[in-house]
Order: sequence, then C-alpha cells, then structure tokens
Amino acid sequence: MDNFAELHLHIEGTLEPEYLMELQARKNGTQLETIDELRKKYSFSDLQDFLNLYYESMQMLNASDDYSELADRYFQRVVGTGLTQVEAFFDPQTHGANGNSFETVFKALANSFQQANDKYGINARLIMCFERDRGPEAAKKTLDDVFAFFENKENDVFSNLLIGVGLDSAEAPFPPAPFAGVYERARNYGLHLVAHAGEEGSPENIWSALDDLGVERIDHGVRALEDEALLKRLEKDRVPLTVCPLSNYALKVVDSKKSAVRKVLDLLDKGIMVTVNSDDPAYFGGYIDDNYELLRSEGVGEDVIELLMQNSLKAAF
Ligand SMILES: [Zn+2]
Repeated sequence: MDNFAELHLHIEGTLEPEYLMELQARKNGTQLETIDELRKKYSFSDLQDFLNLYYESMQMLNASDDYSELADRYFQRVVGTGLTQVEAFFDPQTHGANGNSFETVFKALANSFQQANDKYGINARLIMCFERDRGPEAAKKTLDDVFAFFENKENDVFSNLLIGVGLDSAEAPFPPAPFAGVYERARNYGLHLVAHAGEEGSPENIWSALDDLGVERIDHGVRALEDEALLKRLEKDRVPLTVCPLSNYALKVVDSKKSAVRKVLDLLDKGIMVTVNSDDPAYFGGYIDDNYELLRSEGVGEDVIELLMQNSLKAAF
C-alpha cells in the first residue's frame, strides 16, 4: 500500500478549469468561455506564461467559502491515493491584492485542512509563500500580518496549521538574497523555511537559498545537476529537493516526460534526498499519484518508487 507525503503543492494550483467555470457562472451569472477554450489556455511556453494565467484565475477566489471549497475539492481528489501528509503552499499576497486579507484566507484554508485531519486522517498543514517579484518589503508586511493574527489568542487554535514560509513566483529575475532579513524573522518566530530555487533560475539560486536564507528544503532544485559542488553540498547536508516531474515537463524545464523522470533518477544517483510532488496539478496534467504513475510508465521500479515515498515522509516537517 502506497504511503507518501506531498511537500510541493500550491493549493491555488488545484483550481480545475471546470471549477473556475462554476465560479464564473456563480459570480457573473455567465460563462465567458467554453471548457474547451479554457483548457486550450492550459498549455504553457514557460513559467511566466503559466503565472499569468494562474494569477488571473485566482481573481475568481474572493470569499472565505471559495478557499474552503477549493481545499475540500483537493482533499476529495487525493483521499485514497496513499497520501497521508501534505504541506501545502498558499499565496497570501495575491489574495491580499485581490481584497482578501491574510486572516480571511488563512482561516478558511486552515478550517478545511483541520477537517482533512479529522475526516480523512491526512496530516495537512500550510506553508505561506512570499512572491519574490513583490520584493522583500512586501514580504515583511505579510509576515507582520501573520504576527498580528497570532497575537490574538483566539487564533491559537490555528497555530499548528501554519508551519513555515516559502518563496515562489518568477524565479530567474528575482534571486533569494534580498529576502534574508524576512527569513531570519520567520525562523526566529519558529517557522520552517523553504524556497523555490533551481527551476528556471540557475544553481546560484540554490546556493543562495541555502546560505543566505538558511532553508531546510529546496523546492524544485533540478538545476543542481549542473553544479557538482552543489550536489556534494546537498548530499552532505541531506537537503531534500521537492521535484515535480509533470510540472517540469509542462513548463518546458525539460523537453520530454522521459527527461523529467531522468532528472529524478539522476539526482537519486548523486545521493540526493529527492521527493516527488505535483506543484500545480490542475494546470500541469496531474496530481501526486499521477506523478508516481508517470515514473512507473517510464519504467521506474517499485523499489525506487518506495524509496521516493520514504524520502517524502522523512523530508516532511
Ligand atoms: Zn511550486
């Protein structure tokens, strides 16, 4: 029986086109596109191309119920796959820009995540991401919102549901180092630290995430394969990588599904603690179980699958 954790999932990335159309119809009383027209948009030339659609779609989430419903639908999709633990990202800054406060979004998600614990036995918790293109000052303000939220003792019930901070969105033009101060504050507050690095950006971003931010896991990190010294460092310090094969293929980080799987195997060969994850499953053609199925369909043996699943449980916070 499969038993694994998902460590790289953006909850907003579970917004299926069918659900987006439902939201459009409910809110606007009309559907602007057919499902086929919408699905056609889910083909991307690169990370930025995807982010444009991603942030546009998120504008449809604008009530507490929407966030709860989004999360509920995700849990209904993955229950029974073998998923026992999830540490999911969310993007409070985009929701804030759309008029939804940290408190509204976090409480709605946290309630659904708590229910997943109670109802499905999935140990589900949240990691809040800073969007790197919004800069370190904006990140600092977002962290202030978190501190203010938890200063209210009534919110203590949610404290075990927020476990860390991450860094996402456009990687290549926005290196990690300017976020060192805000990461230090998050660490002092007792939050775990992760960051996206080495997906579209160079291995330098991975070095910087480790040395400047002090992260405990690297999200993606496949471009570490270009840097032998970095591979040694990741191996020596047992730094987990949350690799997302279907995402890498969809965003043209690699040129085929075969080479997406090859990256996972090459990293394992280098002694790296690799995990397999889904990233934004509604956009990239598959959930966590589909990513494992991709590996199987490319001939990866059950012993290796088992190792990857064990890695995911070990790398969980
Ligand atoms: Zn991601």
